[in-house]
Amino acid sequence: MNDLAEQVRRIPSVDRVLGLPDVAVLVARHGRAFTTQQLRVLLGEIRARMTAAGAQAQPAPDDHAIVALLADRLERAARPNVRRVFNLTGTVLHTNLGRAPLPPEVVAAEAAALRDATNLEYDLASGKRGDRTDHVRGWLQRLTGAEAATVVNNNAAAVLLLLASLARRREVLVSRGELIEIGGAFRMPEIMASASCKLVEVGTTNRTHLADFEAAIGPRTALIMKVHPSNYAITGFTKSVPDAELAALAHRHGLPFAVDLGSGALVDLARYGLPAEPTPMAALAAGADLVTFSGDKLLGGPQAGIVVGRADLVQKLDRNPLKRALRLDKGRLAALEALLRLYADPDRLAERLPALRLLTRPEAAIAAVGARLLPPLAQALAGRATVTLEACMSQVGSGSLPVDRLPSQCLALRPERAGGAALNRLAAAFRALPIPVLGRLEAGALKLDLRCLEDEAAFLGQLPALASP
Ligand SMILES: *Cc1c(COP(=O)(O)O)cnc(C)c1O
Repeated sequence: MNDLAEQVRRIPSVDRVLGLPDVAVLVARHGRAFTTQQLRVLLGEIRARMTAAGAQAQPAPDDHAIVALLADRLERAARPNVRRVFNLTGTVLHTNLGRAPLPPEVVAAEAAALRDATNLEYDLASGKRGDRTDHVRGWLQRLTGAEAATVVNNNAAAVLLLLASLARRREVLVSRGELIEIGGAFRMPEIMASASCKLVEVGTTNRTHLADFEAAIGPRTALIMKVHPSNYAITGFTKSVPDAELAALAHRHGLPFAVDLGSGALVDLARYGLPAEPTPMAALAAGADLVTFSGDKLLGGPQAGIVVGRADLVQKLDRNPLKRALRLDKGRLAALEALLRLYADPDRLAERLPALRLLTRPEAAIAAVGARLLPPLAQALAGRATVTLEACMSQVGSGSLPVDRLPSQCLALRPERAGGAALNRLAAAFRALPIPVLGRLEAGALKLDLRCLEDEAAFLGQLPALASP
C-alpha cells in the first residue's frame, strides 16, 4: 500500500471541515460562500504540496491545523486591498502613494455626497436640470481671476480634452525642450497623437527662440502650447520663450495659447517659505488663453484636472462629447468644492491643508518627532538594527518643483548584520505592519523621513508587531 496515497486520503473533505465547531465562527464572520471557496483552495494546495513532495511528504495536517490555516487565510483575504500607509519616503506628493492627503472638511464633504442623493445635476433654484461642473466653476473663477473654468478626471484628461477640442487634425506647436514624459505613461507626444493632433516640435532641446515659433506657424496651425517641465530641469546653455511673448505671437496670428502647468499652485508658495512655483494666475496675466493643472498636486486636493481661461474656449471643451467620458463623479466634485473654499482664507491655509502643512513643516518640529520616536524604535529593533536621527532632504514630488529639496530629518535604520539581504528584510518587516511603513533605502540604511509623520500614536502602537518575525 502506497504511504503517500494513504496520507493524501486522510486530508479531510470540505464538508467535514465546514462541520467543525471552530469553523462556525469563521463562517459567521466571513460568510459561507467565501469560507467554502477559500477552504477548497486551501485543501487543494495541501494536496498538491503533498503530491509534489512524494515520498518525502509530511503527514496530512490535522483538523486543528487546517482550521488555523483557514482562519489565517480568511483574515488576510478580508484585509482591504487599498490601505492606509505611512509615507516616510520623503516625497510628500507621492504619485504611487495617492499624492495629496486631504483635509477633514474635504473628506467629510466627499463622504456626505457619496452617502446620499445630491443636487449633482439639478438646479435647486429653478427646479431644472443643472450642470455638475457649476458647483466649482465660480470658485475657480474667483480664485484664479479667469473668465471661465471647467474640470475633468485628471490633468492628463484636461490636456487631452483641450487638444481634442481646439486642435483636432491640425498642428500644435511645442518647444522641443518641453516634450515631457511624466511617470505613469503621460507623454506629451502620445497625448497629442491620441487627440489626433499633429505635433510640431519647435527649436532644440536646450534652446528655443521666438523666431523658431514664428517660422513654424503655418495654415494648419491650431494652437501654441507651453508645457511646464514638471519633473526635470534643463540647465546650462538654455533659452525658452517667456509666456507673454508666446501669447503675443499666438494672438498676432489669431491662435490660442495654452499652458499646461502640471502642478499649478493657487497661492504664491514663496509666501510660505517654499520655492516659487508658477501659478495659473501668472500664466493668465501673461496672456495664456487656457491653463491646465492638477487637483492633487500642489493644490492639495482630490484627483482632478482643472482648466481655466477664455470663456469661448472653455465652452468648446465643455461641448466636446469627450467631456462626458472624462467627467468627475459627485464625491470628487464635492471634495474639490470643499477644498477650493479653504483657499478663500490663504492666511490659514498652511495649517488647514495637509499638503501645505507638511511641505512647510519646520525642520525643528520634524527633529522633535525623531527625538520622541528614537528610543522606542531603538528598543523595538534591539539586536536587529541600530537607529540614529539624521538630517536628510525631502522633495515635493509629483513633478512639482523638481530641483528643490526641503531640509528634513529621518530615522536611519542600519541592520546589525551586514549585507543587502538584512536591509531588505528590515524594509519588508516595516511594509508588513498593519499600517505599512514605507521609507527609502539609501547607502545601506532604511531611512524613515519624518516630515509626513503626524500620527505618532499609530506609529508607536504598531511597534510591538515588529518584534514578531
Ligand atoms: C502631472 C502632470 C500632468 C498629468 O497630470 P495628472 O493630474 O497626473 O493627470 C500633465 N502635465 C504636466 C506638466 C504635469 O506635471
